[in-house]
Amino acid sequence: MNVRVAISHLDKISGTPNEFDAASLTTIQHLTLETLDVCGFEDLVKDKSVLIKPNLVRPNPDYPSATTTDPRVIIALMRLCRDAGARSIGVGDKPGIGLSCRACEKLLNLDKYFKEVDAHFVYFDESEEQWEANPEGQLEPQLPIPQVIHDYEVFLNVPKLKLHMHTGISLGIKNLFGLVPEHFRLKHHREDLHRFLVDYLYRVNPDLTLIDGLWALEGQAPICGTPVKDFNTLVASRNVVAADTVGAYLMGVNPQSISMIRIAQAEGFGPSDLNEIDIHGIDPKIIRRHFTRPILSSQDAYPGIDVQVRGGCVGCMSSLRHALDRLHLAGKLKEDHQTILLGMRHSIEEDLKIANDDPIFCYGNCCIETFTEQFLHQPKATWLEGCPPHFMEFYRQYCKVNGIDPD
Ligand code: SF4
Repeated sequence: MNVRVAISHLDKISGTPNEFDAASLTTIQHLTLETLDVCGFEDLVKDKSVLIKPNLVRPNPDYPSATTTDPRVIIALMRLCRDAGARSIGVGDKPGIGLSCRACEKLLNLDKYFKEVDAHFVYFDESEEQWEANPEGQLEPQLPIPQVIHDYEVFLNVPKLKLHMHTGISLGIKNLFGLVPEHFRLKHHREDLHRFLVDYLYRVNPDLTLIDGLWALEGQAPICGTPVKDFNTLVASRNVVAADTVGAYLMGVNPQSISMIRIAQAEGFGPSDLNEIDIHGIDPKIIRRHFTRPILSSQDAYPGIDVQVRGGCVGCMSSLRHALDRLHLAGKLKEDHQTILLGMRHSIEEDLKIANDDPIFCYGNCCIETFTEQFLHQPKATWLEGCPPHFMEFYRQYCKVNGIDPD
């Protein structure tokens, strides 16, 4: 029997993810229930302890963005869990590197709604780490998982519908990245990120995935993109690969072009072909759009920033582009000439076209030889360590070298 995916859509929803009233919440609660009903939601959560895992990468209450799961969907889902008779309701995620779960909880600012349904926040970063054997995966013999997630009987995966400059899309499988402890996050953060996520899928296969596409995100996603404010769509399935396949299709992406979907499909986790999915609700052809794709390359992206790439890979390329987009968005990117070298060189060229007094950044471990042989003693030269470096590391270094307050 084909797996089921439910799609619900409204032409208009009042309010925004950060400003909403009771009527807006009621509308979204009805829409969520309509979507989840197709997936046997009530039977799934009744009398069970439930963990809701949104994507909280970096909630920003001052900027109604589409980077995180919509708080209205979290509230609706908590209420529906309560109404369906869930025994206990936890909500948890480990947000982006450098942000603790407690800081994230404060930014999320949903205490009032947590109290209403007697839910609690789950602090992944304060939980013991359990190193679980990973016999079916490929990258590591063991993977670290926050022990606390095993205190719950049902795992509800609630990602945001958005594109992603590194992985193509960020949906249900990608949302498992929130289970990875901070110290382990950059270990497989190149092209191997797809494989890494499927390895985690072997350890934690969600019982249900509900994709929040009320406000979606296109362009320089997953962090600095452009909100699609009228997408007004929810997608749900008991099968995460089927949910991602439909989610990708709705953004105008061929699901089979996404490595993590292909790998997961090939290893039996679910279908990557719409013809093998029973779709309930609105016909996806009616609401499908072609989302503007993120631009990964930083070459000639911003005036004054001379990015010279020699064989770099997606790890450093996405990290650098995230950082530059973020600096630009914060109004901190200067037009003064600076050079960023990225990737491995076949040979150390003596005629690098760089003015001696320009700030120079050698980005990532591939650049260490260039840095030590050519710029070690140059006061304005900086090496960014890591494979890849975290994008906030460059953000801070750029601000330091240019005398800018990073906050
Ligand atoms: S250091 Fe080299 S291999 Fe590592 S992410 Fe950067 S470009 Fe890729």
